[in-house]
Amino acid sequence: MAKIFIVDDSRIIRKVLTAALTGAGHEIIGEASNGEEALTALESITPDLVTLDITMPVMDGLETLANIRIKYPDLKVIMISAAGQKNKVMQALKLGALDFIRKPVEKDEMLDVINKHVV
Ligand SMILES: [Mg+2]
Repeated sequence: MAKIFIVDDSRIIRKVLTAALTGAGHEIIGEASNGEEALTALESITPDLVTLDITMPVMDGLETLANIRIKYPDLKVIMISAAGQKNKVMQALKLGALDFIRKPVEKDEMLDVINKHVV
């Protein structure tokens, strides 16, 4: 069981991820709809893992990831990517993201990826 923090500007995606992850025994300890909100929230919560959407208003996933790396170098981050974002996914992996999940999110595939990186 892991404490997971969900960052995505889509309320529907946040709901889908929450349902799948809690159904698999994980705990959602917070959610944010852009990077700025996420960084603020991370000042007061300590997740085991963050799911981070790439395309978001205000502060996108790559900029958020760069900030997370500076402030919380050991925090596990898994990107959520849409079709056609291969370059951004590669950039994110270089910046230290552990893995990525493709949209549309497929439940079992998503849980496999998450469970690979948490106990
Ligand atoms: Mg998005």
